[in-house]
Amino acid sequence: MEVIVAKTAGFCFGVKRAVDKVYEQIEHAGKPIYTYGPIIHNEEVVKDFEEKGVRVIESEEELKALRDGIVIIRSHGVGKHVYDILEENGIEIVDATCPFVKKIHKIAQEQNQAGRRLIIIGNESHPEVQGIKGWGNDNTLVVETPDQVDNLPFSEGEKLCIVSQTTFNYKKFQDLVEKFSKTRYDILVLNTICNATQERQVEARRIASEVDAMIVVGGKTSSNTQKLYEICQKECKNTYYIQTLGDLDPECISSVRSVGITAGASTPNHIIEEVHTNVRVKF
Ligand code: SF4
Repeated sequence: MEVIVAKTAGFCFGVKRAVDKVYEQIEHAGKPIYTYGPIIHNEEVVKDFEEKGVRVIESEEELKALRDGIVIIRSHGVGKHVYDILEENGIEIVDATCPFVKKIHKIAQEQNQAGRRLIIIGNESHPEVQGIKGWGNDNTLVVETPDQVDNLPFSEGEKLCIVSQTTFNYKKFQDLVEKFSKTRYDILVLNTICNATQERQVEARRIASEVDAMIVVGGKTSSNTQKLYEICQKECKNTYYIQTLGDLDPECISSVRSVGITAGASTPNHIIEEVHTNVRVKF
């Protein structure tokens, strides 16, 4: 059987940087270490950190109650008010916000000051989008579907700045931008989709179109892995979404001639390698 592993599978620059920062703190901090939310959307990695004493803070109430220790901000970033809470309580901050997400925070602040309303193309409930909203003002809106563009309550000439969640699907982003360009709003479009995401999606689509079965490896709560799965499924109906090798039903690929493997940005290399080795050796 032919097995093709995507070159872009696995940790992106921002996730690797965040994970490395946690390991650095585990070695050197000498005081309690917390992450605000799981550092990445991967249960295996988060479990490993927990075993090394890193606690995940899940709510703002817990964050406000902290009086000691270090809080690591994850690659998704957080709103400005989170920095304010931590600074007021004298908590040390290790900022692992991905620089590409930081750039959007800066755009949000600048464009608000310039009088443009921020529109984020993305999934409202995603932590990155919540974080970006926290750098805009109360007028910031999140748009995910074309009919939302039709129902915006703005008047002609409204000044908008359109940015994107970094992991949003490029094609859907383009479609929404096209829809906006047909309105009578005054729009400034800044494509803030991360290259790592685009490259991973393009490669996944290409491989999925060439193989008999496609395996997408990543955490179930990882938005970029879910999108990879959607993309691959359109090209290859035998697409399987697994978190680890244990989720792979060998029956699914036992009779195919070629298999492709890709993985989300928060999937550690050893998990991808384990899947790759097993598929290659057993079939
Ligand atoms: Fe940063 Fe891109 Fe990775 Fe998101 S996908 S953490 S923006 S490098």
